[in-house]
Amino acid sequence: MRGVAILGSTGSIGVSTLDVIARQPELYRVVALSANSDVQGLLQQIRQHRPQLVAMASPASAAELQRLLRADGSPVEVMVGDAGLEAVATHPDATDLMAAIVGAAGVLPTLAAVRLGRRILLANKEALVVAGGLFMSAARAHGAQILPIDSEHNAIFQCLPNGFSRGLKAVGVDRILLTASGGPFRCKPIEELHEVTPEQACAHPNWDMGRKISVDSATMMNKGLEIIEARWLFDARPDQIDVVVHPQSVIHSLVQYVDGSVLAQLGNPDMRTPIAHALAWPERHGAGVAPLDLFDIARLDFEAPDLARFPCLRLAFEAVAAAGTAPAVLNAANEVAVAQFLRGALAYTGIAELVERTLQAFEHTEADDLEALLQADARARNLAEQQLEKVVR
Ligand code: NAD
Ligand code: MG
Repeated sequence: MRGVAILGSTGSIGVSTLDVIARQPELYRVVALSANSDVQGLLQQIRQHRPQLVAMASPASAAELQRLLRADGSPVEVMVGDAGLEAVATHPDATDLMAAIVGAAGVLPTLAAVRLGRRILLANKEALVVAGGLFMSAARAHGAQILPIDSEHNAIFQCLPNGFSRGLKAVGVDRILLTASGGPFRCKPIEELHEVTPEQACAHPNWDMGRKISVDSATMMNKGLEIIEARWLFDARPDQIDVVVHPQSVIHSLVQYVDGSVLAQLGNPDMRTPIAHALAWPERHGAGVAPLDLFDIARLDFEAPDLARFPCLRLAFEAVAAAGTAPAVLNAANEVAVAQFLRGALAYTGIAELVERTLQAFEHTEADDLEALLQADARARNLAEQQLEKVVR
């Protein structure tokens, strides 16, 4: 029986994870959960899954939850803030951590579980974008298995042979092909993009996700972050990673071998597939996902990404090539920009503009320790806030 801890249990990935777990009660026990501020959501989860520990980032939410739990007579322990997140991530009865917080807030608690050699189911791509090199070397040093949850990276993981950690060349891999849906604005006239609303940006054609990643999918910054994520997970050179726009989101990514073989993983766009794959690995069990019906899908289309339409993707290509602090700065500026866009204080086209201005204004350095990267993250957030008034609203 595996013990599972979940960071971000009330989010889209967290809820899907608990759905898969509930289908296999003989295999998994939920030991610890965390959420930002969704008291009712977490309370429901506690009643259903009976964890030993929960944490909330917001102190006011934690106090409210504690009050409701007392009325329930629940024995669950409630913790608060960063210490709470770390306690959830490192719970002594957890064998596996689902890292499903959104943003750089996931770096430290996830790294704490890596250092204990836990199995990490990694959805929180921003953690790898900020500190991927450190993350992967900590995983090697402490024997922590990292299983990708992001659908593209999970697909690539499934298409790679055992022993790919010896190096892609050693296992005959030539390139990695990351598929991208192109999001809701793939065909929208470019001159209309200035006007789009958060609701339009969050209405993804194929996937139902949290709001931050939905906006990232609309700008294709999501694919940019995923290039950086793939670079670290699979020790790939940036020039070995291609982006292929595939609007149906049926092929989740592909691996091209030196002999001309190309292996792909297909499935309905439902995150419970990669979640179940990672939970069960190296075995398999059900996920509650409808079987793929190729006759219903009928056709699959492919096109090259349009960097003029999606400047965030260009910025990510530049940041991964620049390395050092650039990916952390790209990510931090994007987190600020997306939050401002979602609260109506920045135009959609202002997102790329703010990220570009921040990258230009930042004095980049080599970055080989966590301290330097977290400082770069904090400085980039300040810088992005300062640049905000210069950018189109
Ligand atoms: P979401 O917004 O639906 O959920 C985020 C969760 O994290 C919530 O439980 C929230 O309470 C918690 N949280 C947010 N900020 C926090 C903070 N500062 N401190 C503590 N807790 C915090 O997001 P999501 O769509 O589930 O995405 C989670 C992660 O998974 C992201 O990194 C995203 O890029 C990645 N991911 C998501 C999907 C998807 O289909 N949703 C697919 C691939 C990758
Ligand atoms: Mg993805």
